[in-house]
Amino acid sequence: MYKDAMTYYPTSEIHTQLIPATIGCAHKKCAFCHMYENCSYEEVSINDIDYELRYGNEYTERVFLTGADPLHMGFEKMMKILKLIQRRLPRCACVAAYAAVRTIYRYSVEELQQLHDAGLRLLYIGFESGDDEVLKFMRKGHTVEMALEAARKLNEAKLPFNTIIMYGIAGKGKGVEHAHKTAAMVNQFRSNKIVTMNLTLFDSTPLAAMVTKGEFTEAPMYERKEEVRTLINEISPETPVLFDTTHATNLVKLLGTLPMDKEKLLDQLEKEW
Ligand code: SF4
Repeated sequence: MYKDAMTYYPTSEIHTQLIPATIGCAHKKCAFCHMYENCSYEEVSINDIDYELRYGNEYTERVFLTGADPLHMGFEKMMKILKLIQRRLPRCACVAAYAAVRTIYRYSVEELQQLHDAGLRLLYIGFESGDDEVLKFMRKGHTVEMALEAARKLNEAKLPFNTIIMYGIAGKGKGVEHAHKTAAMVNQFRSNKIVTMNLTLFDSTPLAAMVTKGEFTEAPMYERKEEVRTLINEISPETPVLFDTTHATNLVKLLGTLPMDKEKLLDQLEKEW
């Protein structure tokens, strides 16, 4: 039942009206992820979504569709939901959601444009890494080429998104090289914000089992700091981007625009970590 389902949302959406769209994750394979381990993927019915909207706050200006990747439900159903939101919450100017690279990759630019025009205005996407070996090892279900193609489509459709990347994810001894590759990837597209997460090991995950078997060694903290420093030094897309390490997993909370605030962020990193 969707009302009892575990719900995750970005901290920046803490005051946003949450509307259930999907439960769990259709992929559910990422080695580091523990989020939906106890629930199966399910789509909330249009009737249930309509019920939530009818009894929601009609003055809300922002909605967050819950679930790991609501666009997985497909274009037709997403359009139905966005049209329902327009009808029931006419003041809503922004619908946001998490999204997966492999799902966006399957959509056409025209479909993404139509979703944008129907109210979908912000996606939070877990790119995680710009290194194919890391993506494969972590079972992300996409490649760097797919990530670049998904980002290109979103940019063409003018559908804004936040890019979530992870440091520590390449393991011991590989952080700086990983940062080079990840910066090179994000420099090729336009996103609102780059959100960093620090790899955190959860007991029940496949990654924890890999650590026990000696297949993965966690990066020590000084290497993670070098990785973040390299990201700050090298992220410089054509359109300046907000660099945000305020997610709870990070050891130091930085927020600034790259490349303009590079020196300020490096200075803060030195002082606080
Ligand atoms: S990281 Fe996201 S896509 Fe991967 S298993 Fe977890 S919820 Fe699913």
